[in-house]
Amino acid sequence: MAMESVYAGIDLGGTKMLAVIVDKKGTVLVSEERPTLVEEGPARVIARMAELVRVLIRQSGRNVAGLGVATAGTLDPKDGTVQYAGNLGWTRVPLGVTLAGELGLPVKVENDANAAAFGEWKVGAGRGTRHCVFVTVSTGIGGGIVSDGKLIRGRTSSAGELGHITIDWNGPVCPCGNVGCLELYASGTAIGKAGAAAAEADPAAARVLLELVGGSAERITSREIAQAAESGDPVSQRILRDAGQALGVGLVSLVHVANPELIILGGGASHIGAPLLGPMEETFHRHVIASLGEGVRIVSPKLGVQAGAIGAALITEQDN
Ligand SMILES: [Zn+2]
Repeated sequence: MAMESVYAGIDLGGTKMLAVIVDKKGTVLVSEERPTLVEEGPARVIARMAELVRVLIRQSGRNVAGLGVATAGTLDPKDGTVQYAGNLGWTRVPLGVTLAGELGLPVKVENDANAAAFGEWKVGAGRGTRHCVFVTVSTGIGGGIVSDGKLIRGRTSSAGELGHITIDWNGPVCPCGNVGCLELYASGTAIGKAGAAAAEADPAAARVLLELVGGSAERITSREIAQAAESGDPVSQRILRDAGQALGVGLVSLVHVANPELIILGGGASHIGAPLLGPMEETFHRHVIASLGEGVRIVSPKLGVQAGAIGAALITEQDN
């Protein structure tokens, strides 16, 4: 009996690339991580991606049906060209075509957050649902939307830029050009900055936080704030409450746009727990249109750091 086909996926980040071979169910057969070495330029990075995939295919000993690539940036979903990726410094790089030529495999290139959303929906926390939103809160805020079992891509595979929906149109200008973006209030970076600002404004009140960083306010990150909040520090609890409320406001807009049955909330900041998630859920339920919010579950992801690579691999499986 012929062995069932399997799929290759590679998540290309600014510092490392992570590749997997998975079966239809998303079970990882083999995986490996290597440095991206972005300073070597696109040709050499792509050559090393191909080499890594070749090594894993050999290790798996299986018939690989296709390769999915997850990468940041705006893409041409038809031919897999990276139009622009700031983290890689790439402009108009024919990533998909080059890898297909090197490996003799069909290649699909997908936005990394959308690939992770697809993976979590298909074989992770969203398995069995039809309508699902994935939100990741870490340095920034990103995500993706699966509607009626299809990933929403948009023209340049950039749909689901959830960190850049406006929650305050009188708010500060975001590096993206918009104003008052969710990411400016609720990302790990934003939480850390709020801690530093609070400590500079009133060192006595922020004493607990400052002790955790040896007195230097600029070293405060979301980690110290989570730790201080846990021990009852009111300044840190207020910062996390504000961020949680902002996140709740953002989720309301998401639900009004996408009408999901499930929200998968991941990323480093989601580990902060109750001091962030409590105010988030409370704000969400207070403001969401009742009929849309009813029964929407908010859950943690299941695939961890491999979500993007697994999702990219599974996207190649059929006409997703
Ligand atoms: Zn923005």
